[in-house]
Amino acid sequence: MERIFIGVAWPYANGPMHLGHLAGVYLPADIFSRFHRLNGNKVLMVSGSDMHGTPITVTAQQQNKTPEEVALHYHQVHSDTLKKMGIEFDNYTNTHTPEHADVVRELLGVLEKKGHITSKVTKEPYDSKSKQFLPDRYVEGTCPLCQYESARGDQCDDCGRTLDAKDLIDPHSKFNPDTKLEFRETEHLFFKLSDFRDNLLAWVSKDKNHWRDNVGKFTHNWLEDGLIDRAITRDLDWGIEIDKEGYESKRIYVWFEAVMGYHSASRSWAKWKGEPDEWKKWWNDDNARHYYFLAKDNIPFHTIIWPAILMGCDLHLPYDVPASEYLLLDFSQFSKSRNHAVWAPDYLNTYDAEALRYVLSAMMPENKDSNFSWEEYVARINNELIGNLGNFLHRTISFAKKNFPKGMHADECSVPELRDKVSLSHSQITTTLSACKFKESLRTLMELSQAGNIAMNEIAPWKLFKEDKKACEAHLVSLLNMCRSLAIMMNPFLPKSSQKVWDYLGLEGTVEEAGWEAAMEGQTDFKPNQPLPLFKKLNLEEILEREMPNKEGELPNLKPEITPKDFKKMDIRIGTVVGIEDHPNADKLYLLDVDFGGPKRRIVTGLKEEYTDEELMGKQIAVIVNLAPAKFRGEVSEGMLLAAEDEHISMANVSILQPDKEVTDGSPVH
Ligand SMILES: [Zn+2]
Repeated sequence: MERIFIGVAWPYANGPMHLGHLAGVYLPADIFSRFHRLNGNKVLMVSGSDMHGTPITVTAQQQNKTPEEVALHYHQVHSDTLKKMGIEFDNYTNTHTPEHADVVRELLGVLEKKGHITSKVTKEPYDSKSKQFLPDRYVEGTCPLCQYESARGDQCDDCGRTLDAKDLIDPHSKFNPDTKLEFRETEHLFFKLSDFRDNLLAWVSKDKNHWRDNVGKFTHNWLEDGLIDRAITRDLDWGIEIDKEGYESKRIYVWFEAVMGYHSASRSWAKWKGEPDEWKKWWNDDNARHYYFLAKDNIPFHTIIWPAILMGCDLHLPYDVPASEYLLLDFSQFSKSRNHAVWAPDYLNTYDAEALRYVLSAMMPENKDSNFSWEEYVARINNELIGNLGNFLHRTISFAKKNFPKGMHADECSVPELRDKVSLSHSQITTTLSACKFKESLRTLMELSQAGNIAMNEIAPWKLFKEDKKACEAHLVSLLNMCRSLAIMMNPFLPKSSQKVWDYLGLEGTVEEAGWEAAMEGQTDFKPNQPLPLFKKLNLEEILEREMPNKEGELPNLKPEITPKDFKKMDIRIGTVVGIEDHPNADKLYLLDVDFGGPKRRIVTGLKEEYTDEELMGKQIAVIVNLAPAKFRGEVSEGMLLAAEDEHISMANVSILQPDKEVTDGSPVH
């Protein structure tokens, strides 16, 4: 038996979760915890809503509510979402509890006693009109690193770098943009992160081969750049108070206290359980392993800042921090401000949670960004979840029930190859799930189920039943044993469906009680119940109509909004076609030589059906000249010409774009 602590990143209570949060953070943590529980390990999994800080107060001001109203509302929304998704915590709490505040002040006291806390006077932005300091998100300005114009005082949303309000170009108050900002002196407490740099470097350099590449690299780079002491208090009236003279109008900075929630949530859990020391079994035992699940923007808080606090307080350090990359929606980042998202509460009001668990596990952004689209969602459910897994389980169990209503018996396994396949898959999935490789584990599971479908076709029990009933019965017992193993192995991913399969198979108790290793055992007798289809087949057109309707008066198939900066990245020039050849290996392609006032480019284009070479020769055309070169049947194209495509006529529907009057070759297009 092992002790596994699972800490899952704390979502801000200022808006609902989207599918990216579920795919990158909460679902992998839940799969991991279910796997360990099935193995008989003692798991403690905690998280909670992050209720403090400027993300909450800014939202409150925008919605004309108090920070507490906003935070409590979204805490409830998060709790409901997690529950509906079947993501089970031992304690899902929030940072706005007296227990959390006590633990934060206690840990702060420990760090202070050891000399890791200091106070400094710094100059911070001050709004003389509203007579208040403006902490991080209350200040906006231009990012000094990427020139993004709406960067916040804590971070640039465009390039992702953490910032300080002082770094911004033209900093101004978010809510009073016209008043001039002053920088006034104010005293704050600082955490001396620099005290821990050497120990952190030694820690991340030792036995971390199991860490994901991006996590290790990112952490090493941060540490090698050196660590600066960070302010742990803010001039703000929402958050955890500090017992210190002169700090009455200040609160603890959210980055410092939210991570402490892992510890306070463990202690509250033990207290509510009536065994107040129970948490120590995870936090004071050197053999306990601590895992933290989060998205990549949260890496430094879990591999540097939280470990530094833990070192300072003599608490257990993380064993693994399997941070995820991002799930994209139609190839661009989920964004609250652009409302480019599928919100989890909306999804759960209309669609099935288990189906989503399957799809998000199959496209989990483990080592690189992955993309969600409704097309892929429907395809994966219809073709994989139903077409493969659901199909094998349903047809096997219903055939058995129909033809052997009194039950089946076989003394030994009549299809040893199936048993061997189960055994191999079981050992592979055990290895990959232990290593937090969820996508690969699910793939192995689906391959096993596909092997079941193939075996079912080869055995063809519907024929065998007429020819040799005894052999048919024995083979069915083998196939039902495979269903039983699948029910166990699919449990971490699809807990509800797994239990349904278990019940349809006529098995006693729960999958959890049977345990992970039971997948390797076989039974001699089965008496299944009538199964119902496990998943509902989806209709793509209906879903697209609901999720992506063409609004009245709006352009159909409108692409996600881009910024003027995005547009400026494109270099479009006018050039004259001075040479035309047929593509040597493609009937429909031309090779054009285009003159841009001296420099020439070769462009591969597919205009052969619309334009003859005489029509094209000498024409001025518009070309994107900084597009990455692409090869078309062996010929490299150094640009792409612009043309309109008329979708309402079938023939000669492409028309190249030309300047209205002649311009000098090489002229840019804005
Ligand atoms: Zn930036």
